[in-house]
Amino acid sequence: MTGLNGLALRAVLSVRLRASGVRGTLSSQRHVSEVAMQRADPEQPAKRPRCDGSPRTPQRIGAAAANASPGSNLHTDIRTWEVEDVCSFLETSGFREKKVLDSFKENKITGSFLPFLDESRLENLGVSCLKERKKMIACIQELSQSHIELMKVFNDPIHGHIEFHPLLIRIIDTPQFQRLRYIKQLGGGYYVFPGASHNRFEHSLGVGYLAGCLVRALAEKQPELQISERDMLCVQIAGLCHDLGHGPFSHMFDGRFIPLARPDITWRHEQGSVEMFEHLVSSNELKPIMKNYGLIPEEDIEFIKEQIMGPPVTPVQDSSWPYKGRPAKKSFLYEIVANKRNGIDVDKWDYFARDCHHLGIQNNFDYKRFVKFARICEVKDTHGKKMKHICTREKERKDGDIIAPLITPLKWNNKDPGSRQEASKDKVKKQLF
Ligand SMILES: [Zn+2]
Repeated sequence: MTGLNGLALRAVLSVRLRASGVRGTLSSQRHVSEVAMQRADPEQPAKRPRCDGSPRTPQRIGAAAANASPGSNLHTDIRTWEVEDVCSFLETSGFREKKVLDSFKENKITGSFLPFLDESRLENLGVSCLKERKKMIACIQELSQSHIELMKVFNDPIHGHIEFHPLLIRIIDTPQFQRLRYIKQLGGGYYVFPGASHNRFEHSLGVGYLAGCLVRALAEKQPELQISERDMLCVQIAGLCHDLGHGPFSHMFDGRFIPLARPDITWRHEQGSVEMFEHLVSSNELKPIMKNYGLIPEEDIEFIKEQIMGPPVTPVQDSSWPYKGRPAKKSFLYEIVANKRNGIDVDKWDYFARDCHHLGIQNNFDYKRFVKFARICEVKDTHGKKMKHICTREKERKDGDIIAPLITPLKWNNKDPGSRQEASKDKVKKQLF
């Protein structure tokens, strides 16, 4: 794994400090770049000795936490804080507005999320006054300076500079994920189109990134949906890991090789992805790391697998809702990475753009426009049951501007006629805009 970290790091072009505005208010007065060199994650594998034998700069984690200690009752490592600890810290720091504290509780903001709260997220959490938001951010930055995690930035040819949360980096830096570097995205297509040399690795990064873009946009536009930071991380993990189970030459493995080599089995790469994800988590002992970042592995691993695979074979008892990871009120989260309902998902957004780029053909689908107009609406299905779905403007569908390239090949209208009829009603349109 250590060697593979190196591989991943070579792909990383630059590192940005999330809290680049941190001032040297601590007694150590360390320079920001010095802080950036530290690894705050105690679970990170030990660094190898340098080739020339010179010692590494000793780590100084802990000094800031001691100086900026929020109180004797709270652990100095803010990542261990539960929601109650966060609220206690806010109260002792002078943020006592009940509405805000309730919002932090409702959204289950644990200590691991604190360093990632920016102005727009705080606004969504009910901190309406700009001055208060700035004060709260400064407070959190000072407290968490010793635990600033490294957000890694990749320069992707399709999406530009894309940034990943440290937990996502831990997943990317596993042998199971790095394996995707050697699997051709378009299988044998490379032997026809010489530009089609791209691999599942970069596509998976793109899907993880787009999943984050869409879920975050929905959370910001519709705070009433109560999309938590935990939800967002899980959706991004599902985006990253949705293709882990592909075999050599991708679909050629499913469609050509397996039917000849193993006619006795039915192979689906989605099932392979779920099994490989389980193996990735267990063999790299990621459950405690997930916990550190605020996830609840028992629920969230199931949620991630369901997003990749679809509903479990045995549905939840006494319920028409087939999923276990998240309740029906968050049904739309299952439509981001692999949309089993109409096929419009971020997986396709990425491979449309990426494959066209490498094949040298034009891509007519503009995912940024789709994200801009996407809203969650309650839509009746053919049985009259209401469910929350990702919708777009009627105008977009009618004019064929943004989703025509997706719905035409997918025969979206035929696949789900109920949603089409309901989505076109004036009532839904009003809900949208
Ligand atoms: Zn894919």
